[in-house]
Amino acid sequence: MRLIFLDLDKTLLGEDYSPESGRKIVRALVETGFEVVLNSSKTRAEQEYYRKAWNLSSPFIVENGSAVYIPEGYFPSDIVGNSGIKREDYHVIEFGMPYSEIRSALDELAGKYGLKYYGNSSLEEVVGFTGLPGGLARLAMKREYSETLFRWERRGFEAELEAEGFRVLQGSRFINVIGETDKGKAARELLGLYSLMEPVESFAAGDGPNDFPLFDVVDHAYLVGDLRHPKAKNISSVEEILGVIK
Ligand code: MG
Repeated sequence: MRLIFLDLDKTLLGEDYSPESGRKIVRALVETGFEVVLNSSKTRAEQEYYRKAWNLSSPFIVENGSAVYIPEGYFPSDIVGNSGIKREDYHVIEFGMPYSEIRSALDELAGKYGLKYYGNSSLEEVVGFTGLPGGLARLAMKREYSETLFRWERRGFEAELEAEGFRVLQGSRFINVIGETDKGKAARELLGLYSLMEPVESFAAGDGPNDFPLFDVVDHAYLVGDLRHPKAKNISSVEEILGVIK
C-alpha cells in the first residue's frame, strides 16, 4: 500500500484556513489509491473538521506528534492490541504531555515573561492573534497536548521550559510548547502498525521545520516552499505531488 502524511498549515491550507484549497489534492490522492493521514500541529477537534470536509476516515496525528488517533475498528484488534487508550470512538496512542501539565508550567511563567497563549486568551483574542475564523478558533482552543505562544514581552522562558522537560519549537509566527515528541516519532509508530498488515511505501508533504522529523521517517518527502531538507524534494505547491508521484 501507499500512504502519505500531509501537513495542514501552509501545505493543504492557505491563509483563510478553508478546506476548499485542499479538497482537490486530497480527493485525487485518495482516488489514486493513497491512504491519506493528516499530521499537523492542529488539535483533534480542528482535524476532525477537515477530515469531515474531505471525507477522510483514516488515522491522524495531532498537535505536532503528540498523539495518533485511530478510528475504532480501523485496524484489526490484534494489531492495535493493548497499546494506547480508548477515547470516544478512537484508539489513541500518546507521545506528548497532557495539556494540563503544559498549561500549569506556562501559567507559572506568564507574568514574568508577559506570555499570551490559548489558555489565557479569550476567543476574541485568539481570533486576533491567529486570524482563524471564530468557529475554527473555538476548535483550536480544545487543546490536549500542546500550547502555542502568541506573544511574549521577553525571551528566556524557553530555557526554563526546556529545563522542565518540555520541547519549545519556533514556528514562522508563534512558538509551540509540547512534550518530548515530534511528527516523525508518531508517524513511525503508525507506519509500524500498517506494516504488520502489508508492505508500506510512505510519502510525506510539509512546509516547515516541524515537518523535518517526519521527512526523516518516510520513503519519499516533499517540501513545499524554499526551505531545504537533505532528503526532501522541493515543490512550489502541494498539487505538484500528483505530477511527481506515479
Ligand atoms: Mg505547515
